[in-house]
Amino acid sequence: MESLFAEEGTDTGQIDGKIKNKWRWAWLDEAGDDGKLFRTWCKKMTLSGVCMCVICHKKIPYGGNGKKVLARHSADAKHKAAVRALKHTSSLPGAVTVTAEAPISMADRVCNQKVRICAFIAEHDLLFTLAQPLVKLVTAMAEDRSALSRLSMSNTHASYLSTHGIGAQFKSELSSKLQGHMFSLTVDESTTTNMDRVVNVLVRYFDDDRQKVLTQHFASSKVNIADANTLTHTLTDIMQSNGLDWDQTVSLLMDNCNVMRGKKSGVETQIRLQNPSLLDISGATVHMVSNVAKALCSPFQG
Ligand SMILES: [Zn+2]
Repeated sequence: MESLFAEEGTDTGQIDGKIKNKWRWAWLDEAGDDGKLFRTWCKKMTLSGVCMCVICHKKIPYGGNGKKVLARHSADAKHKAAVRALKHTSSLPGAVTVTAEAPISMADRVCNQKVRICAFIAEHDLLFTLAQPLVKLVTAMAEDRSALSRLSMSNTHASYLSTHGIGAQFKSELSSKLQGHMFSLTVDESTTTNMDRVVNVLVRYFDDDRQKVLTQHFASSKVNIADANTLTHTLTDIMQSNGLDWDQTVSLLMDNCNVMRGKKSGVETQIRLQNPSLLDISGATVHMVSNVAKALCSPFQG
């Protein structure tokens, strides 16, 4: 982009051409009646015979009367008012008075990055809680600029990579960690936006590498007939496909409905046949508290 202002000290003879009074850089070091140097507000433009007051944003032609116009402008009532106003206002980080050549301040640059993050969140309808994680992500990614410059990713590629790359790797690592170890399972059902019923299994185990107990997602499986037999088969399938036995399960946490915890043929009863030493840790405490609260409040209704 061609600059709006001429750089101080450069030859302005060509810009000014054949006008009577040509620009002189020495004018900037003279002062007006107010004692302020002209350079505090005046800039030579890359136009013939014109400079600009960057405070009033006014073009001042000097071709006819030379530097006299600068003194005249500095004495102008409007200019004085603008200078006074400037003295009593502090600029916001984004407010740049001289647009063309001013180096952009760090505050402006940081502000620009923030606006980009906010705009991205708004455009893609994301959560505001993602703002700081997004900053961390871009910071980490920017460390390898040359790889970043070669990066592109379609949505099908991202989906494939998540399912068959990261997901598969994660699953195989988890199942190899569980081999020969004891663990607890937490099972619950949910309904997807497609109205499919899905059984979700979390596993809680002691991780030797990290030396602490971790809870991780173990598997999710679609079960549209959610009876006790189907659920038991699904869970057994999940265990077998990971090369695990029910013997390794310390406890099984699930909600209190009959399908799950029915005494005769509930999922827990069926699994207990294969692992009689399964701990009885009762059902989901949240549901129990909710039921107790409902029972407590019922006499007061109406
Ligand atoms: Zn002015």
